[in-house]
Amino acid sequence: MRGLLALVAAVVAVAVSSTMAEAGPKWAIVVHGGAGVIERKDLTPEQDKAYRAAMARVTEAGAAVLRKGGSALDAIEAAIRFMEDDPLFNAGRGAVFAADGRNELDSSIMDGRTLAAGAVADVTRTRHPISLARAVMEHSPHVFLVGDGADAFAKSRGLEQVDPSFFFTERRWRSLVRELEEQQLPIPPRPPGAPGASEARAALAHDEGKHGTVGVVALDEHGDIAAGTSTGGTTAKRWGRVGDSPVIGAGTYASNAACAVSATGTGEYFIRLTVARTICALVQYKGMGLQAAADEVIQKELTAMQGDGGVIAIAPDGQMAWSFNTSGMYRARLADGQPLVVGIYKDDP
Ligand code: ASP
Repeated sequence: MRGLLALVAAVVAVAVSSTMAEAGPKWAIVVHGGAGVIERKDLTPEQDKAYRAAMARVTEAGAAVLRKGGSALDAIEAAIRFMEDDPLFNAGRGAVFAADGRNELDSSIMDGRTLAAGAVADVTRTRHPISLARAVMEHSPHVFLVGDGADAFAKSRGLEQVDPSFFFTERRWRSLVRELEEQQLPIPPRPPGAPGASEARAALAHDEGKHGTVGVVALDEHGDIAAGTSTGGTTAKRWGRVGDSPVIGAGTYASNAACAVSATGTGEYFIRLTVARTICALVQYKGMGLQAAADEVIQKELTAMQGDGGVIAIAPDGQMAWSFNTSGMYRARLADGQPLVVGIYKDDP
C-alpha cells in the first residue's frame, strides 16, 4: 500500500512539474537592433557597453508595459519608439541615407490575435514610423501606405511631424558619402537644416555595414503575440527602393496560430524567401519548434542564397528564438521569471 501511495505521489509530482514547465512565462519580449558585420575586435569597450546598455533599456521599456498587463502591441510600439529616437540604431533618428541624401523610413506591425497589419514605406516626416504603421492598422481600411500620402495620413492622425533634418546624424552621412564614392555615384549636398559636422554620439556608434534595422516581438499575459519592425533601409538605396521591413510576411509577421517574427538583413533576400511567414508556416504546418524553424530558414535557405541577416521570434507558449548568419546581431530577450539576456556577437549566449 505504501509503495502504491509513493507511486501515485511520484506520478502526480511528474504531472504537476510538466504542466508547470509547459505553462511557460506569462509574458516575454525579444528585441533586435540589426544584424551585420559586428565583431568583437571592431567595437571599442565603450561602444560595446553603449549598445548593451541601449538593448537592455529598450527591452525594459517593452517589459514594463507587459508586466503591467499591457498588450504585446503596446510593448512593441513603446520599445521601437525608444529605438527610433536613439541615434545608435538605423531607424527614425540615426537612419541611414538613401543615395539622394534623404532619410526614407519604413516600418510595419502585425497583431497575431487578429492578423491585422499596418505598414509604411518612404516616410520622411513622421518622427515615429512604428506609430504610423500602427495607425494604418487601426485607423485606415488599408495595410500599406507609402511616401507623402503616408506622412499626410500621419498628420491627419495627429502623429508628430518633424523637419526631415531631425533624422540626420553625422556618422550615417559619412557612411553615405563613403558608399557613393565607392560606387562612383554623385554625392548630394548636405541636407538643408543638417547640424554641424560634430555630433557627440556619432563616435559611439559602430558602423555595422549597410544595415541595422530594429524589431521587437512580444507575448502578453492574454496569450497574444505581435511583431514590429522599423528601419531606414540600406545605405545609398536608390530609385525609391523598399526592403523587407515593411513587407508583411517578409520582414514582419505574427499569428497566434504559430509565431511572431521580425527580421533584419539585406531585404531583397528576405522578400524573396518571405522569411517571417515561412518560419511561422514551418511552426504551424510542420509542427517544428521555433528555434528549429528559424534556423531552417536563416541558416539553410538564406545562407544557400548568400543572403545575410537574422530574425527574432516568439511563440504563444513562450518559446523565444533568434537566428542570424552574420557575425553579429544586437539582441536581447526577457521573460516573466527569467533573467535578461543581451548579446551582440555570434559567441554571446
Ligand atoms: N532589412 C532592411 C532592409 O533591407 C535593412 C536591415 O535590416 O538592416 O531595408
